[in-house]
Amino acid sequence: MAEETIFSKIIRREIPADILYQDELVTAFRDISPQAPTHILVIPNHLIPTANDVKASDEKALGRMMTVAAKLADEAGIAEDGYRLIMNCNKHGGQEVYHIHMHLLGGKPLGPMLSRGE
Ligand code: AMP
Repeated sequence: MAEETIFSKIIRREIPADILYQDELVTAFRDISPQAPTHILVIPNHLIPTANDVKASDEKALGRMMTVAAKLADEAGIAEDGYRLIMNCNKHGGQEVYHIHMHLLGGKPLGPMLSRGE
């Protein structure tokens, strides 16, 4: 079985985080090291380590991640100007936390899609 990460502790509110939204399927909180004026992580409440591990039974939670991201973008006032949704997978994707998460980034022009890569 996959090992829990710090994100499971955030979901259970065992460690502090700036949680903006939570329901029975997903949790959204501010990234601790923001890369843009708005940087929110949207995650499923159950552990899915990487995008490679997604199953048909996860579709409801993954769909909820999208609707919650759109709602939070609207609440942050960045919906009209636009934003970026990113999900990194494994080493080449730059994944650091092995509990899938959607980055919601916005609040300024974000530049080219791949700006940090080599
Ligand atoms: P990734 O590289 O896609 O796995 O992104 C992991 C993200 O989690 C990074 O943007 C980190 O800044 C963020 N992060 C790590 N620990 C925390 C935490 N305790 N609270 C909020 N965000 C975190």
